[in-house]
Amino acid sequence: MVLALASSETRPVFWHFTVGLRITWYVLAVTSVLVFAYGVARPIVKWRRGHGGSWPPVPWPEVPGRLVNGLKLLFSHVTISRRDRVAGWGHRAIFFGFMILFAGTVVLGFDTDFTTPVFGWNYFHGPFYLAYKEALNVFGTALVLGLLVMMVRRAVIRPAKLNYARPDRQADEPQFNRRVYSIGDWVFVGVLLVIALTGFLLEGVRIAMDHPGYAGTQFGGWLVAQLLTGVSYGTLGGLRHGLWWFHGLLAITFVSSIPYTKATHMLTSYLSLSFRNPTAARRLAPIPPERADEKAGYGSLADFSPLHLMHLDACTKCGRCHEACPANASGRPLSPRDVILELREQANAAFSGTSVGGVLGGLLAGQANGNGNGFSESVFGVGRVHEETIWACTQCNACVEICPVGIEQAPIINQLRRRLTEEGELDSLLQSTLQTIHKSGNSFGENRRRRGRWTRELDFEIKDARKEPVDLLWFVGDYASFDPRSQEVTRSLARILHRAGIDFGILFDGERNAGNDVRRVGEEGLFEALAQENIEAISACEFNRILTSDPHSLNTLRNEYPQLGAEWTVVHHTELLRELLQAGRLPLAGPLSYRVTYHDPCHLGRLNGEYDNPRAIMELLGCNLVEMRRCRDNSFCCGAGGGRIWIPEAPGKERMSEIRIREALEIPGVELFVVACPKDVTMYEDAIKTSGNSERIRLREVTELVEEAMAPQEAAAEPVPAG
Ligand code: SF4
Ligand code: SF4
Repeated sequence: MVLALASSETRPVFWHFTVGLRITWYVLAVTSVLVFAYGVARPIVKWRRGHGGSWPPVPWPEVPGRLVNGLKLLFSHVTISRRDRVAGWGHRAIFFGFMILFAGTVVLGFDTDFTTPVFGWNYFHGPFYLAYKEALNVFGTALVLGLLVMMVRRAVIRPAKLNYARPDRQADEPQFNRRVYSIGDWVFVGVLLVIALTGFLLEGVRIAMDHPGYAGTQFGGWLVAQLLTGVSYGTLGGLRHGLWWFHGLLAITFVSSIPYTKATHMLTSYLSLSFRNPTAARRLAPIPPERADEKAGYGSLADFSPLHLMHLDACTKCGRCHEACPANASGRPLSPRDVILELREQANAAFSGTSVGGVLGGLLAGQANGNGNGFSESVFGVGRVHEETIWACTQCNACVEICPVGIEQAPIINQLRRRLTEEGELDSLLQSTLQTIHKSGNSFGENRRRRGRWTRELDFEIKDARKEPVDLLWFVGDYASFDPRSQEVTRSLARILHRAGIDFGILFDGERNAGNDVRRVGEEGLFEALAQENIEAISACEFNRILTSDPHSLNTLRNEYPQLGAEWTVVHHTELLRELLQAGRLPLAGPLSYRVTYHDPCHLGRLNGEYDNPRAIMELLGCNLVEMRRCRDNSFCCGAGGGRIWIPEAPGKERMSEIRIREALEIPGVELFVVACPKDVTMYEDAIKTSGNSERIRLREVTELVEEAMAPQEAAAEPVPAG
């Protein structure tokens, strides 16, 4: 009996509909699909206006694999949950709730419009229908809960990252607070909530009419049915019709509006995640040979790559990059979110005049028509992207690393800098530093013959790797070679290597600035010239690995020199020191037992994924390492990167390095601020002094800790094993 009931259980889709009403519904549904499809085509044509114009932005054979990877990221929600579990779970509930409800509508439509009329096969009844109903009930509830979480977050918790006020605009400027974005967000969640709730209402009315004594698991529908107890059958019927049309029209309007509203991120974020380049920030794109005669970088939207134009549309305004950006946190006029949104607004305005014919023509043409429709206007200027915004960036990559949809904010900013640099729109001190590097091969303006002078205070000779083979070729870098405080660390490292019996040598005056930061300033020509000189000098040497203590040099030697045909194994000194300690080649006198904290350099951590070696060293030395609030991939930039070390700070602003020292001092009893980068040595020695904390915390480079822990030479006959 139960089986018989279950097998007949179903629900009519068009309850008491006349033929005219059915036709009206189908006409509206098809119109909505066409409006949706046109909305999807428009941005593709817009992205094709970028330089090169091809779409998709990767070769066709790569597309299926990319799309599958994108799906994995999307369904796992790993990028959305990072450092924000509330948003992660809220979004998961909305995403899966919406997807299952949407899939449920498709399944129902397939039965109603295809299998039943074509094959006479109606599967929408019995156990299948009951399971379907339960699934939609559960996921509909999840959708409602997820939307409520997001609403509470926006209205009650109000995290700073969801405040759309722009740090690059004054409070009285019209673009300052972007109220229209907040309204759009509320409309988006509000409409979805109404769609979900009217679905439950409709189900409740149906239960009240067809199963008045219902006591199943459809909680939402049951609750509504209880509230309707006593309402006449006729009134319920009218309500059922009214709700059906309201719910249905809202749903198809929502679908058709997806490509035109905030909901577009449902499509663009997936594409962005699928086609992103995970190495984009550590390996900046070279200038393509076919553009060698054109102006470098991005000056107008027509210069953007189609991928970067697509990134602009993928931004969900989640504000994570805005929150992570050290420039924004320290009061500079930069928010990576606002750079992306500003450029998006410009692109939309430039494309807004494109007619339906223009879109269809652009879709059919394999290649874009490049300039035109405002795409060739400068992106810089009053009310547009401000130059000071672009120069505030330290290229620390915190934005790229946290963006849940894979947008390349830092590489886009780098492209904008290339154009500004080419046009001479840069700080005069930065310009003169670049000229100095060009002339002398180093940022200190020192005679290149003095590069190896730091070795004079050692009581042993360092090999010239240009004259004899070595196991390790040590690329010292500018700061470690010339800055007096960093020279102490450099000599310390040399003494350790010497005592460990490492066969190493340096290039002396054959070395040039590695070019990493020159490239991040946007001076691509000078970068290539420096890299070529280094490649020539290094290629003439015989060695097994390159060693460097400078994460900036490490990044470009390891990741960017291969673009110029030079590929070597490049290790950071923390990797080597860990190896030596673990192999027992550095005899220790005993544990150091300092209470320390460690600052991850952006170029070693975020850009190259090396977090563990320095920490392992401190553990082997017996230090008590306590992490700062922001550590590892969430480390806070010292402010030196991207050429910022060569640009004077605006007076009255707190420095990023001082903010970081304050953060370290939140740790009770911390004694040492440990770093693993010569630029960090400079930045933080200075910040400890300028913030008046010389009595409270001292700076140590990892190398200095190792040397301090080592047994004196004469006592080394009986070494204490590491760890
Ligand atoms: S790279 Fe760093 S400083 Fe530049 S926009 Fe991104 S987070 Fe801000
Ligand atoms: S660029 Fe990425 S991280 Fe920044 S607001 Fe947009 S989606 Fe969020």
